[in-house]
Amino acid sequence: MKIQNLVRENIRKLKPYSSARHEFTGSADVFLDANENPFENGLNRYPDPLQWALKEQLSDLKGVPPENIFLGNGSDEVIDLLIRIFCEPRVDHIVILPPTYGMYQVSASIADVEIREVPLTRDYQPDVEAVLAAAGPHSKILFLCSPNNPTGNDFEPDRLRRLIAAFPGIVVVDEAYIDFSDSPGCRQWLPEFPNLVVMQTFSKAWGLAAIRLGMAFASTEIISLLNKVKPPYNINKLTQQTALEALQEHSDTQEKIRHILAERQILAAALESLPFVESVYPSNANFILIKVPDPKGLYDYLASHGIIVRNRSNVLLCEGALRITVGTAEENERLVTAMKKYDQ
Ligand SMILES: *Cc1c(COP(=O)(O)O)cnc(C)c1O
Repeated sequence: MKIQNLVRENIRKLKPYSSARHEFTGSADVFLDANENPFENGLNRYPDPLQWALKEQLSDLKGVPPENIFLGNGSDEVIDLLIRIFCEPRVDHIVILPPTYGMYQVSASIADVEIREVPLTRDYQPDVEAVLAAAGPHSKILFLCSPNNPTGNDFEPDRLRRLIAAFPGIVVVDEAYIDFSDSPGCRQWLPEFPNLVVMQTFSKAWGLAAIRLGMAFASTEIISLLNKVKPPYNINKLTQQTALEALQEHSDTQEKIRHILAERQILAAALESLPFVESVYPSNANFILIKVPDPKGLYDYLASHGIIVRNRSNVLLCEGALRITVGTAEENERLVTAMKKYDQ
């Protein structure tokens, strides 16, 4: 597959903005090229537009070369950039597999790009044949989310591979929750598939949702395209610094993940024991999907006790479902105690 043939013509022809920090790369000590304020305060200079220090560290952790890494202002920026690179408005479309993360659809709608939906199977796996049957020359991006939000399960590796190999466009595997899963994810397949984009984020397992930092791992062709269209300084210096510190203290993050996984097991067992809970879905993420007879009633009851969960009951294949994030032991106990007293 030729990635260039999938790219919109205006993007192929685009001459990107060249910042002062792009044009000079040698060593110097007087910088009068960027109209910055000369008085040092640690933040007066523009940040590294390509975040090399951070990418080097990430490269060691993820086993992906720095030139195969792109960083976005959250994964949400990566989703938006990919749609704008590959999808011609009102001509091309994306393919999504509901029930799934809402931003794929929102970003496509903002770009005036059509959305094709191929629902997951009853056990929340991609229907490979149906996806491939729905795909055509204008299917530019397939979004797969594994572990999937809101269902919490991993997609089977064999189904992912078949889709990546046979889909006629870009395949994005959104691994926002991969650090909570026992699956290794899809990064190791990158050398085989130039059309594969693996997305991860600092927002969940790393506990850094506020710094807005998303990662994309892909072929150098795709990474160059993302770099070409991104705003020149999309990752600010405070974010780069905070992420570098977090990478240096990686064992803290590992410890928190282990804690959340232990709590997930306790919470799942407690939810299973409640008579009115019809199903507790197995989770490889930091949330649990449950089904109850009256999701709106339970949602309102919990809210009246100051506990907010996500009502997903109006989403396809999620009839009766609430999505509950795994909190601290105290938070989970408050939830379970309130639920035990719930009188339908
Ligand atoms: C939370 C989440 C993200 C994270 O998005 P950021 O913009 O990086 O905060 C991405 N994908 C899915 C499926 C999510 O649930």
